[in-house]
Amino acid sequence: ILRTRALRVSFGSGRSRLEILHGIDLDLKAGETLGIVGESGSGKSTLARAILRLIDASGEIRFDGHDLTALGRRALRPWRAQIQVVFQDPFGALSPHLSAGQIVTEGLLVHRPDLDAAARDRAAIAALEEVGLPGAARHRYIHEFSGGQRQRIAIARALILKPRLLVLDEPTSALDRMVQRQVIDLLRDLQARHGLAYVFVSHDLAVVRALADRVIVMKQGEVVEQGAVEQVLTAPQTPYARKLMAAAG
Ligand code: ATP
Ligand code: MG
Repeated sequence: ILRTRALRVSFGSGRSRLEILHGIDLDLKAGETLGIVGESGSGKSTLARAILRLIDASGEIRFDGHDLTALGRRALRPWRAQIQVVFQDPFGALSPHLSAGQIVTEGLLVHRPDLDAAARDRAAIAALEEVGLPGAARHRYIHEFSGGQRQRIAIARALILKPRLLVLDEPTSALDRMVQRQVIDLLRDLQARHGLAYVFVSHDLAVVRALADRVIVMKQGEVVEQGAVEQVLTAPQTPYARKLMAAAG
């Protein structure tokens, strides 16, 4: 469903231009979970943003065989609905005066202009229920929810557009173990029901093991190792991956 080739990202310009991703090749099948691990600063979040075309990248990004690399904002819009993202602290910068319902339905305003307010409201209820929250939660302000509930709301906001790929960047890292477990169970459940594919970025190998089918290990903007999750986590082939796994215990 997703394929990148020679994906490169640089920040800055002129003499201060610095290449952060040095040509990433990755392949993800529909319904599959690809874990992305690597130490802090290795480029995991940059890769996640590049896949979404939130930042400029060179190289090739294909979704379902369609080349997204050169598409402008308008042409990209239909694909944007199918590739959704969930970040670690999804609403950190958002106004506390938004209700969960407003947040969950925001994407519909852009991607489903055909829906009226009543239809959006029904969609909000369904999306909230799908992530294990009551439909009535849509009337409450976002700051009234716990971290785990906010993460569920972020997932509901992504799901409402019926995506086929979710890019999750450290979605459970700010949560305690119990709540992490619940969010992971929810993600697995949604994957089974909807055949979603996930790109799952995490420095937490226990979480990656629970969710990923395959893993890529990043170091300084390159993929140094990839393979089936058990293979990479228990019998890493490269010295760097071995060190990373050992450091995680
Ligand atoms: P973490 O585990 O801490 O989240 P990461 O693997 O997600 O780390 P990135 O956030 O992708 O790492 O950062 C990779 C490198 O790119 C870092 O050296 C960072 O300083 C640099 N970088 C990221 N975003 C920018 C930007 N907008 N401008 C300049 N440099 C950036
Ligand atoms: Mg990051």
